[in-house]
This record gives sequence, C-alpha cells and structure tokens, in this order.
Amino acid sequence: MSNTIFQKIIKREIPSTILYEDNDVIAIEDINPVSPVHALIIPKKCIETLNDLSEKDATIVAKMILVAKNLAKELKIDQSGYRTIFNCNDDGGQTVYHIHLHLIGGRKLNWPPG
Ligand code: AMP
Repeated sequence: MSNTIFQKIIKREIPSTILYEDNDVIAIEDINPVSPVHALIIPKKCIETLNDLSEKDATIVAKMILVAKNLAKELKIDQSGYRTIFNCNDDGGQTVYHIHLHLIGGRKLNWPPG
C-alpha cells in the first residue's frame, strides 16, 4: 500500500481536520489554505495522478465532485462561488502524489490562475 501523507491521514497516523468521510472518500481542511475555504477531497484508494485514472475509477471521481458540491453548500460558499481543481504532475503544481480535489472559495478568485 502506498504511504503518502494522505494515506497516513486516512489511517489516522497523523492528525487532520476531517470535514467528511465515507467508505470511499475523505475530505479534510488543507493545512496551508490559499483561501478562507480550502478543503481537499481525497479518495481512500491511492491513485497517484490523474494520468493513472482508468474507467473503473469513474464512480469514485464522480463521488469526489459530489462531495465537493455538498461541502460548498455546507461551508456556505455555494452561492458566492468556488473553484475545484486537480493539479497533475510538476507543471500542474502537484506536490502530493495521491489524487485530490481542491475546493477553494470564500474570496474572489483570479483568472487565469498563476
Ligand atoms: P497539490 O499541490 O495539488 O498536490 O496539493 C497538496 C495539498 O496538500 C497542498 O495544498 C498542501 O497544503 C496540502 N497538505 C499537505 N500536507 C497536508 C496535511 N498534513 N494536512 C492537510 N493538507 C496537507
């Protein structure tokens, strides 16, 4: 089994603030938030990058997006707006090689991103 920092969080080996959890997915607060709301939606199955996704992962990816939508409402940014992001590999800014969906909001976000 892979041992990314997110795997350690899932196994409760290191602490985190958990916003949501079910059999397939965990959502936590980002330790270094870039906006007033910054959550990470993480599948419990470790998939290293978006490049490693296959057809059999379609359900889990859809679930991650639905969890982001539900959290946006819970955290009261659904009406003001928010952004969901998957970073992939070095140029995409990925630092943890276990896919995760960023949910950011609570302020006006710039476009295009840096
Ligand atoms: P990325 O750069 O897309 O791979 O995103 C990784 C994210 O994980 C960054 O936003 C980090 O701030 C966040 N992160 C790293 N370690 C932790 C941790 N222990 N708890 C919560 N978030 C973390």
